[in-house]
Amino acid sequence: MLGKRSNERNGYVGARRRLVERLREQGVRDSRVLEAVAEIPRHLLVDEALRDRVYEDVPLPIGGGQTISAPGIVAAMSEALELSGGDTVLEIGTGSGYQAAVLSRLAARVVSIERVPALANRARSALDTLGVTNVVVHLGDGTRGRPSEAPFDAIVVTAGGPELPKPLIEQLASGGRLVGPFGPRGQQQLTRVQRGPEGELLAESLGPCRFVDLVGEHGWVG
Ligand code: SAH
Repeated sequence: MLGKRSNERNGYVGARRRLVERLREQGVRDSRVLEAVAEIPRHLLVDEALRDRVYEDVPLPIGGGQTISAPGIVAAMSEALELSGGDTVLEIGTGSGYQAAVLSRLAARVVSIERVPALANRARSALDTLGVTNVVVHLGDGTRGRPSEAPFDAIVVTAGGPELPKPLIEQLASGGRLVGPFGPRGQQQLTRVQRGPEGELLAESLGPCRFVDLVGEHGWVG
């Protein structure tokens, strides 16, 4: 195991490679997702004091009671979106910007919405530092989606709401995929919804999960 100093000297490359191996063992198959996780310097998106834990598969605090999601769940959600490179993705809950940075490698364009101004600002400058140019971060209530830029090929919700926000369903393109945590607090299910060619919706559960609250008009009351 390398110490913190040498990890910093080599840009945490080895730590990231070990993380990718672990995700592969956990069943992540999409090689583009694994490559994106191997490439994004996640340590630059958290407080320096937390850097030595940032390549473990755990969520970490990013301030204001919010968290950067664990890499395993970011990878699983990214994989479930089945991105092919040309898609436009809507993300609800920019947080640290990590999920958006991963998606930037898998999609043509990412529109991300964050409700907390300090987090939106920090994520914008972090994404700038990483040289990510195909992500735009908007401040606002993501449960309303972004009607002016709809429809979206894929939508990812990274905070847990009582139910799937209706506007997001309406903004999902034909053939589009939506992934997010929904259900009562303590009983959230990671849910995947696909819109079929006739406009019909196919929903499946990917298993239980635990996310911070989705707060907004079509989420929990703040
Ligand atoms: N994708 C993030 C995870 C952040 S945690 C990452 O990779 O780091 C979830 C985020 O959702 C928090 O930052 C929280 O402020 C935000 N959030 C909660 N409700 C929201 C809403 N209605 N609209 C936009 N962002 C919301």
